[in-house]
Amino acid sequence: MKKLFGLLLCAALCSVLMAPVAALAEPTPVEAPIYVPWVQGSEREDFIRGVDVSSLLSLLESGVTFRDTEGQPLDGQGFFTLLAESGINWVRLRVWNDPWDAEGHSYGGGANDLHAALVMGQWATNAGLRVLIDFHYSDFWADPAKQQAPKAWAELSLDEKTQALSDYTLSSLLTLLKGGVDVGMVQVGNETNGKFCGESTWDALAQLFDAGSAAVRQAAAQTGYDIRVALHFTNPEREGWYATIASELAKRGVDYDVFATSCYPYWHGTTENLTAVLGQIARTYGKQVMVAETSWAWTLEDGDGHENTVRPGQNDTGLAYPISVQGQATEIASMMQAVADVGEAGIGLFYWEPAWIPVQVYDPEAPDASAVLDASRALWETCGSGWASSWAGEYDPEDAGVWYGGSAIDNQALFDFAGNPLPSLQVFRYVQTGTTGFAVEAIAEQVEQQYDLGDTLSLPERVQVSYSYGAPEQLPVTWNAEDIAAADLTTAGIYVIRGLTENGCETSCTVRVSGANLLVNPGFEDADMSMYDISQPYASRTVDDPAAGAWSLHFWTEGIVDFTAAQTVSLPAGTYTFTLTGQGGDMGNGTSCSFVRFDDTELTCDFALTGWVKWVQPSITFTLTEETEVAVGVSVVAGKNGAWGTFDEWTLCAAPQ
Ligand code: CA
Repeated sequence: MKKLFGLLLCAALCSVLMAPVAALAEPTPVEAPIYVPWVQGSEREDFIRGVDVSSLLSLLESGVTFRDTEGQPLDGQGFFTLLAESGINWVRLRVWNDPWDAEGHSYGGGANDLHAALVMGQWATNAGLRVLIDFHYSDFWADPAKQQAPKAWAELSLDEKTQALSDYTLSSLLTLLKGGVDVGMVQVGNETNGKFCGESTWDALAQLFDAGSAAVRQAAAQTGYDIRVALHFTNPEREGWYATIASELAKRGVDYDVFATSCYPYWHGTTENLTAVLGQIARTYGKQVMVAETSWAWTLEDGDGHENTVRPGQNDTGLAYPISVQGQATEIASMMQAVADVGEAGIGLFYWEPAWIPVQVYDPEAPDASAVLDASRALWETCGSGWASSWAGEYDPEDAGVWYGGSAIDNQALFDFAGNPLPSLQVFRYVQTGTTGFAVEAIAEQVEQQYDLGDTLSLPERVQVSYSYGAPEQLPVTWNAEDIAAADLTTAGIYVIRGLTENGCETSCTVRVSGANLLVNPGFEDADMSMYDISQPYASRTVDDPAAGAWSLHFWTEGIVDFTAAQTVSLPAGTYTFTLTGQGGDMGNGTSCSFVRFDDTELTCDFALTGWVKWVQPSITFTLTEETEVAVGVSVVAGKNGAWGTFDEWTLCAAPQ
């Protein structure tokens, strides 16, 4: 079923053969539970291996505990030390001007005002991390669909707003820098795809960008810090889009150092395209380029009762990487490699919100589920630790005002729901050397098929093969000829046919062959009911609620229902399965079962009738050693007056064995 094979060896050999003569010697891989290739260039001191942990402070205030790799709880400072020990060297923190209502209620989303950036920026600096400040110039989320100016700037003219943005940038940065935060880069705007701070012309955007940039330069000059200016956009997959943006900026002489992009593989195209579009900007305009946001899911589960962006049925098919911890590792390494492939101008990557885990772990099956969800909602509202609180409705009525709640990305964190780091957090360390010591596994899917007597065998041509890293594949299978010859579809039974995939993985197809229905009038479609023995007249053939066809066996009486219905057949030695389909209600604490009776034997299968068209399908499998008269049927004894229901689709077949 499992096969280990030499993909890793092959990958390592290829990179040796392809390495240019002048390149550094390949580093020694470290032992790890996951596969991470050496991302050449990621070991450079100036290569950004960053994370955006903006929501952290609000999570700590909500009572969330993060732990280190030994399971020890971490305080705020300890959390950033763990990041540093995991190979992370930069932290990105978003800042909203005034994410509060007039009464001081948080809009949520991490409650990221300047104070939060100061607190987390100091922890980061103490841990040796540099800091990217991501000014949205809004009071809440800014993205391509939303670029609303702060409340206080809503009525300003463009020139007044430009001055306000300049003053705000300078004073905010001086607060952070004088507070000891090692700001190394500032984003002037977030995902400003042709809109920014309530403006939507390139002339207005250029004026605002330049004002922000000049304020960053001034703050750097006043304090002696080395601070780069980044502009941030998204949709690298849109053909010609980044070339257009860079050209519009260049035409207006906008001063910036770094062209940054979001790149979520669910939506934003291939790594090859990313390298190409960023490379074009680096070469044409002499800019540095980086990924400011990316992420990947390790599970399709939800951890907090607020629906996730990536979930069963949503963004979960046709994926470039598996949904797994290994998939996260592969995604981060691939994305970093795509940036490094630009060359020296490719300066690194930030993973978006690796720590936005549940404030309380929510299990919908748990007896206290609703109490946990209520407690989480209270924390999202008071600490701002969900993506939006209800208080944000005054500023963002159509989105936050309707859909406010918890974390939609708890399954894309690099921590589990309980706050323990996943092995994927270590990718920022692993990419600098590559890893070794794990087994690359390939596992082929095992297939099952159901046939009726006399059908023709039709085995699948391909089965899915999953790997411990990389995307699954559908691969051709060679099925075992002897097993195929032994599969007799004229006899009820179970036949296992072995197969080998193209890459040598073992698979199998389990073929189940069921016999014909041995009962007469099994769906009550014929008026002749003489083959049935029914103990009460209120159980009879009617058109009420059939499971299939037009007729069924229906029962109802004003008093207590208590009846049996059965059909007797003579069967040769063999194994058989009896099933029927039923529904009904008003049973009180009564009992119902299907049964098989022969000689001194009675086999039963209890079931409950719990409501209209809530179908049940009790099933009994039994073996006869010689030809035997067998009665199969159903028994209902209600616990109160007025029980009702139907039985239909009785089947008695030779069973696969
Ligand atoms: Ca969630």
